This record gives sequence, structure tokens and C-alpha cells, in this order.
Amino acid sequence: MTTAYYTHADCKRHEMGSWHPESPERLQAIEDQLIASRISTLLDHRDAPSAEESDLARVHTADAIYRIRENCPSEHSEYDHFPLDADTALNSYTWRACLRAAGAAIAATDAVIDAEIENAFCAVRPPGHHASRKESMGFCMFNNVAIAARHALDVRGLQRVAIVDFDVHHGNGTEDIFRDDPQVLMVSFFQHPFYPYSGDSEPASNMVNIPVPAHSYGDVIRTLVTEKWLPALRAFQPEMIFISAGFDAHREDDMGQLGLTEADFAWLTRQVMAVAKEYSKGRIVSCLEGGYNLSALARSVTAHLKVLADLE
Ligand SMILES: [Zn+2]
Repeated sequence: MTTAYYTHADCKRHEMGSWHPESPERLQAIEDQLIASRISTLLDHRDAPSAEESDLARVHTADAIYRIRENCPSEHSEYDHFPLDADTALNSYTWRACLRAAGAAIAATDAVIDAEIENAFCAVRPPGHHASRKESMGFCMFNNVAIAARHALDVRGLQRVAIVDFDVHHGNGTEDIFRDDPQVLMVSFFQHPFYPYSGDSEPASNMVNIPVPAHSYGDVIRTLVTEKWLPALRAFQPEMIFISAGFDAHREDDMGQLGLTEADFAWLTRQVMAVAKEYSKGRIVSCLEGGYNLSALARSVTAHLKVLADLE
């Protein structure tokens, strides 16, 4: 059984300005590091198909879909970018990149459920976990993990799926989409108080939210995960696990102020895999979210993939 690596060239064509940290170079840095670490050839590389609009519509409102589809500038427009908010913008490739990003997560979900592969990592942009039912924000357009989770439930007939989010930011979009949904359990930790300033009060009944102060290190996170995430995941017995895999909690990443290392991301991955092996037939689909220090991102994804692919 193999680990698949889903991506598509369109995911590198979406960009929001040369100054923007959520850059195409992120995917290139990951690919380079996988080659340098000699694990690239051990992965099953797959081109992401495009999702259908009907896939997006399982999670997002028609208005939210329309806003992205219709506002991407044409290739001949005098404007390179259409701003959605202060730090989120569309270029002429964004719509196509969005369809590939969601399409990767859906295709990975199908391949894992069909037992073609053991698990998968989707190296995609734009990221998704800040995208709520109605809004795109925080570098995110559509919620790739939520779209894939709904596909697993509504199209593939699973009854219970879990979402693990270890990005430094709270996955407010995912919480909005699955609030009080008994088929979904979401576990996360995030720096707080911090963007998007949510998740700490009145969490939904199916959320295990762990706000942590800036400058928390891996030992604190490991204890909290052991005490809070793992018992909740085991009690829920998910049939499949999705990971919102953000690597901006790395200590070298200036986007946040948490102190994780590659070893911590490997440890987190191992814990999720143990639950997946016990309850979920090993089914995991992991999708890239944040991670903006290119070196730390690339090393962390490599550590994550080494564990997923059972290479260490
Ligand atoms: Zn983030």
C-alpha cells in the first residue's frame, strides 16, 4: 500500500502578488525537499483532477462560488489581481487552481476509500480552512478538507469522519461548516489570541478546540493532544480522518509564534495514524493549509510524509 501525492501545475499559477507569503514557491520548496530527501520516488504522484461546481456546492453557498468564479481577472485584463480582502486576492488562474485543490482532496478521498492507496497528501493551493460556507478569507477560497469530508459522507456513504487541524490559526471556516454536525468531529489547537480571533468561546458540540498562548512549544502541544484530542478521537471512532495540515506553527515560521519542529509534526502524524489504524482502516487524507517559511515548510511536510508513507 502506498502514499499518494496529489498536486497540479495550476496550483502554482494562482498567486496574489509577488510580496505575498502564500506563494507558488511553497509548493516548489516542498517538491525540491522531497527529491533531496530521496522520498519523492517512493510516493505515488498523481495529477489532481478538477472538482465540479456541484462538489463545491455541498459546502459553499451559490454566492460564494459565484464570487470567485466571476471575479477572476481574464488573462488580458489590465488588472492582475481582484482583491477579496486585504490579504486574499484572485488572479486569472485562481478559479482553475481552486477546482484542482478541491479535486485533489476528493480524488484522494475516493482512492483511499477504494483502497487503491493507504493514505494521501494533497500539495495544493489555495488553502481552505478559513473558507466558511459563505465567505472566502485568510488566503483561502474554498474549504478543500470540508468539501472532501462532505464527499466521503454524502457521496461515499461514510457515517463518521474526523478532521484534525494543526495549523497555527483556528480553522474557523471548517468549524462554521460542520458546527454541531453529528457525523463530524473536529480536533484542533491554535495560537490564541490570534487571527482569525475565534474558536476559544462557545465552541460547537463536535469541536475539540485547544487555544494555546504564543510561545507554546512542542511539549505543551503533545500533552494537550494526548489528554484532549486522542480520547475524543477514540470515542468518536471515525471511519476516515482528514488533516488540515498547516505547518505555520513551526518555530521558524514568522506567521505565528508557536514553537513546533519537524519532530513535533512527525509525532502528531504518528498519533493520527495510530487512531486511523485502529478505527479507520488507516484512511487518511491530508491537505496542505499554511506554512510560510519555505525551508521549515518543506522539511515539515517531508517529516509528515515520511510518517504517512511508513518510511521511518
Ligand atoms: Zn495558518
